[in-house]
Amino acid sequence: MDMASEHSGWVDLHVHSTASDGSLSPLKIIERAKEIGLRAVAITDHDTIEGSAEALGYPPSPSLEILSGIEISAHVSSGTMHILGYLFRLDDLPLRRTLKRVQEARANRNIKIVEKLQDLGIPIQYEEIEAISGGGQIGRPHIAQVLVHKGVAPSVDKAFKRFLKKDGPAYVSRYRLLPSEAIQMISRAGGVPVLAHPFTLDTKDERDLEDLLVDLKEAGLKGVEVYYPESDTERTSQYERLARRHGLVMTGGTDFHGAAKPRVQMGIGRGDLRIPYGLVEKLKKARV
Ligand code: AMP
Ligand code: FE
Ligand code: FE
Ligand code: ZN
Repeated sequence: MDMASEHSGWVDLHVHSTASDGSLSPLKIIERAKEIGLRAVAITDHDTIEGSAEALGYPPSPSLEILSGIEISAHVSSGTMHILGYLFRLDDLPLRRTLKRVQEARANRNIKIVEKLQDLGIPIQYEEIEAISGGGQIGRPHIAQVLVHKGVAPSVDKAFKRFLKKDGPAYVSRYRLLPSEAIQMISRAGGVPVLAHPFTLDTKDERDLEDLLVDLKEAGLKGVEVYYPESDTERTSQYERLARRHGLVMTGGTDFHGAAKPRVQMGIGRGDLRIPYGLVEKLKKARV
């Protein structure tokens, strides 16, 4: 094998499974990744490592590399901040303890959301949401799907807009880790913390985002998610520029959720995304 083929191939470093709000099980994700010829994949479920742990529990494949992954929701006063973690130790006890706390807060919030929907006159039961969740952690997309099935909303997106979005009539906030806590938890477990999809942050302009990146880097951030289906060339070059300027590694992924986000496909996003394996090698070098 020559050097070129050794280092070629495509990857997807942002995939959700049934352990959170994706619709494919970890095993199905591995099968799909092999079918489409990916060289590496990371299951990055919201606030849980169960999907990653299951994927890494299967016999290793010579063609597909699996990286441990997670996507943590961090507390910010406006907008949405998600911190991705890669290559951490799945058996790290402080990480497991912290995630347990976050998961309990999420479960309590879900119950309150259902109560708010009931108060709005919508006949919805918690058990219906459990049934649709596939046994993993429940998130707002599951609640949205039940609202669609009941004919209360015409689509998942409309269910978010009408009820579930931040400040919507059925929105309930919950305890989240501070950005620095999420970053440090991943680093201490031997992993690489990466800022996910920076455009969901409520930053005004490039300067504002740069200031935030500098603060996060001081807290231990090692990378930025640069390649993403919703990012056009201009936005992607902006993130590449900022990552280079501040010595942050670049990552990429589709944020594949399966049926919950049907326009986005694993590995290729909306069709034209290609994320090179070389990024994985740089990610490994960024590990502490
Ligand atoms: P939660 O983690 O339970 O607070 O739910 C957040 C998840 O909802 C995110 O991961 C998104 O994937 C999903 N989400 C947010 N807004 C929308 C939307 N408008 N349509 C579909 N999914 C959404
Ligand atoms: Fe999600
Ligand atoms: Fe996210
Ligand atoms: Zn995601």
